[in-house]
Amino acid sequence: MAGIYIHIPFCKQACHYCDFHFSTSLKNREDLLASIKMELYLQKEYLKGQSLETVYFGGGTPSLLTVAELNSIMDIIHKHHSLQGDAEITLEANPDDLDLKKITELKGSPINRLSIGIQSFYDEDLNWMNRAHRAEEAQSALMNALHHGFENLTVDLIYGYPLLSHEKWNKNLQKVIDLGIPHISAYSMTVEARTALNHQITKGQSAPMDEEQSERQFIFLMETLSANGYEHYEISNFAKDKRYARHNSNYWKGIPYLGIGPSAHSYNGTHRSWNIANNSKYIASIKEKKLPQEQETLTSTNRLNEYIMTSLRTIWGIDFTYILGTFGAEHLHQLQSNAQQHLKSGHLYLHEDKLFLSQKGKLLADRIAADLFF
Ligand code: SF4
Repeated sequence: MAGIYIHIPFCKQACHYCDFHFSTSLKNREDLLASIKMELYLQKEYLKGQSLETVYFGGGTPSLLTVAELNSIMDIIHKHHSLQGDAEITLEANPDDLDLKKITELKGSPINRLSIGIQSFYDEDLNWMNRAHRAEEAQSALMNALHHGFENLTVDLIYGYPLLSHEKWNKNLQKVIDLGIPHISAYSMTVEARTALNHQITKGQSAPMDEEQSERQFIFLMETLSANGYEHYEISNFAKDKRYARHNSNYWKGIPYLGIGPSAHSYNGTHRSWNIANNSKYIASIKEKKLPQEQETLTSTNRLNEYIMTSLRTIWGIDFTYILGTFGAEHLHQLQSNAQQHLKSGHLYLHEDKLFLSQKGKLLADRIAADLFF
């Protein structure tokens, strides 16, 4: 069982908070798509014949591609990799790309899940973020998707930024709840170093993020979605009726994946590799049939810390039996000792030999994971 991630490094415009790899110039589009297909061929042995449970088109903005272009990538995946019949195939999409025509075409393609970057239903917030879409488009993209058979749908929302009052946050959540969206990813606004947002804050043109506001809005998010039947299955992810994101859940469970495209990361259980985050250099290297990537070998400590970091954030928790079997008794005892302070303070709790974050622990997930690290 494995997954493929495909990075489409193009966006219409740069959101002010974003530090992902993308270009707003589409001049390399044809060459880049050809390179992605060639990399899918060059990497056909990477997953050692494991069948693909998921394919994820991320970016960037993969919904900028035509459905014919997406289909042609899927054809190459079918040709060189082994795709399960019931595979989850997700397209990240921005609302301004999802008109009725595109949704109808997508419905006739292998894509069976849409991840729609809504972020907010308020134009003033979208302007502040420099998003390319308008609130009206967010609403109509969701309606189009729901009414044309995409019931496997997730939306991204952002909280914890200066313009987002409690009332607006409540209304944003209420809108996705009322529409019956089965999966929601919600992220606190973070200020990354090389972004326009960081520059604006440094120059005093934007207020800094307020940690207390973010914490209040995270608590409200957890309470509101829980009261409306959503399961909080990962720190930033909520699902109804166990409609967990299979692709991301497999990342968190340490299942191997192949990343294709500039800046994409791959993991095979022992090594992590990552492609160069530069479209022209990526294309030039693939033209010479060379993988433009660096690689690191993960030590046992690296793997244990990654397991702690990812599983602590999920409803599956840190499994002591797995740690004992994979990393040995000494590591298990050390972990149990590291956890003591947080068990006493009530930020962690134990259930059936698994360690979980409590509700108040979820507010401190990264700090607690760091205390558990080796
Ligand atoms: S659309 Fe997504 S990838 Fe592109 S700039 Fe905005 S947040 Fe970043």
